Amino acid sequence: MATQPGNQTISVYALNTGSCGGCDREIAVAVRKDDRLEWARSPHTADVLLLTGPVTSPCKAPFLQLLREVGDRPLLVIGRCAMDGSPFGKGGFSEWGEVVVQHQLDGCPTTPEAIAAAIHAQAAPAVPAIADGTRDA
Ligand code: SF4
Repeated sequence: MATQPGNQTISVYALNTGSCGGCDREIAVAVRKDDRLEWARSPHTADVLLLTGPVTSPCKAPFLQLLREVGDRPLLVIGRCAMDGSPFGKGGFSEWGEVVVQHQLDGCPTTPEAIAAAIHAQAAPAVPAIADGTRDA
């Protein structure tokens, strides 16, 4: 991981759990435009995790398992559907009490500028993304 105070690069990994692709595209623009952001090769090497999509039923178990492995880094919820399932009708992290998020960024989609600002604001070590802090290492 590369997160440090000052001008160090922050590596991000986006977890698409069934999004329409709109917020993922905005995340890509944010990373491309901001010299202090870069893509992580995997969620295990990321400084910050970004969740997009309403977490469809097939995605839920693998997503929770991944958080148990890498949930000691900030998790940012990007876009309205990841928050509460809108406009898809249901879903979003709000259905699960066990997941802790550092920030929710509303919008459908949200903007690259807002995404970059949220990443920079939340990159400092924070509350683990899964409530019991269980890790499978
Ligand atoms: S919040 Fe809207 S634009 Fe973003 S992924 Fe969900 S449906 Fe697409």
